[in-house]
Amino acid sequence: MAIKVIGGGLAGVEAAYQIAQKGIPVALYEMRPAVFTPAHKTEFLSELVCSNSLKSKDLSNAHGLLKEELRILGSIIMRVADDTSIPGGKALVVDRNRFSETITKKIEANPLIHVVRKEISDIPSGITVIATGPLTSDSLSEKIKEITGSENLSFFDAISPIVDSETIDMEKCFFGSRYMADADDYLNCPLTEDQYNVFYDALIKAERVNLRDFEKVSYFEGCLPIEIMAERGKQTLLFGPMKPVGIIDSHTGQRPFAVIQLRREDEAGKMYNIVGFQTKLTYTEQDRIFRLIPALKDASFLRYGSIHRNTYINSPSVITNSFQFKHNENIFFAGQITGVEGYVESTAMGLAAGIAASLYCAGKQFVPPPEASCTGALLHYITTPAKNFQPMSINFGLVKDYNKREKEKAIKNALSSIVAWKQSTEN
Ligand SMILES: Cc1cc2nc3c(=O)[nH]c(=O)nc-3n(C[C@H](O)[C@H](O)[C@H](O)COP(=O)(O)OP(=O)(O)OC[C@H]3O[C@@H](n4cnc5c(N)ncnc54)[C@H](O)[C@@H]3O)c2cc1C
Repeated sequence: MAIKVIGGGLAGVEAAYQIAQKGIPVALYEMRPAVFTPAHKTEFLSELVCSNSLKSKDLSNAHGLLKEELRILGSIIMRVADDTSIPGGKALVVDRNRFSETITKKIEANPLIHVVRKEISDIPSGITVIATGPLTSDSLSEKIKEITGSENLSFFDAISPIVDSETIDMEKCFFGSRYMADADDYLNCPLTEDQYNVFYDALIKAERVNLRDFEKVSYFEGCLPIEIMAERGKQTLLFGPMKPVGIIDSHTGQRPFAVIQLRREDEAGKMYNIVGFQTKLTYTEQDRIFRLIPALKDASFLRYGSIHRNTYINSPSVITNSFQFKHNENIFFAGQITGVEGYVESTAMGLAAGIAASLYCAGKQFVPPPEASCTGALLHYITTPAKNFQPMSINFGLVKDYNKREKEKAIKNALSSIVAWKQSTEN
């Protein structure tokens, strides 16, 4: 019997292709052109809804390395992206129409893939891969919510920026929790009144991302963008994410005028997020303004903050590391809905989920890709329990044993581990 894949985006196409490569028939359901999401405009499979850039080509950049891993793994999305690329400097930029038209033709011509243009409103029986992305249709979202529980399905990202810990100026910050100077849960970045005033003025005037119509929603009070909070008055941040109460600067023995708290994002402490700093500022402005925080003057941002519409499951609670729903192993989740962010990340989580579903169908065991690879690091991230699980794009902070000073070695490890993993999935 055919495996069903719901969603003909980047992840669904990649999953369907990988399943077909294993000789298993696939029914690929795509609701367009009968029903459109608020962002898709064409009837083509794997439409790029916004930028036509698949980010860096450079292997010393995690985005570049992830793409190289996907090439090794025989990704159809990467092959067509390379074939339809146009000049774009250091980034892999594609001719968006040729890209999705070519993919559509290849998938429709694949004898093992049957493309069905239909909205799926209920979760079908049999082995099914759900790859309906950040704008999953309402009816299917309802069904996913029913099976996962409403607490495990989110409709918005409220993402704080993440900083590479090696680039934080430790002389200008100190460990300690509110009312617990001895605890080391937070890195506190103090600001004097003058520094706060400079920061505040820049924040208020900073350029923001233009919202699309469907994104013009009122924010939840609990996760307001910092610039919106700041607009409410100069004191607001001092009672919110920059409040100094209960914090004593170990360098001065005084309570600072304002404090920004950084919280560990991973066990090893390679990444810290800026607590409560979800924002709609442009990336360039985030880079400029957050560097006004003295401890972050030379910070390297592994992820910028954002808030946007995004349907995603709480993967650590809901799926196993073989992409299977914990309460029904016939159901797989793939792509951005699993809590990754971006075209290539979603493709990677489509490819690996497709391999997992085909091995399951063949009665074989799926071993997750190694955490030393970008593909494995993403899967590890989405399946590792977290207090406040938030979508993530690829960065070296996620890669196991990554060390900036031995980057070449880490890149080689990632690629060789992927070659070995590919062979293991073929036996
Ligand atoms: C407004 C916006 C802008 C973005 N900009 C960028 C960017 O510039 N760069 C970047 O890297 N990423 C960007 N992203 C994220 C990017 O779109 C995703 O990472 C990627 O497309 C996710 O791939 P996917 O296959 O998981 O989902 P999608 O590519 O969205 O594919 C899901 C598919 O499922 C279909 N579908 C949904 N519900 C059903 C249903 N019930 N039945 C059948 N079919 C269904 C949809 O029509 C769609 O074709 C953006 C996202 C949005 C929403």
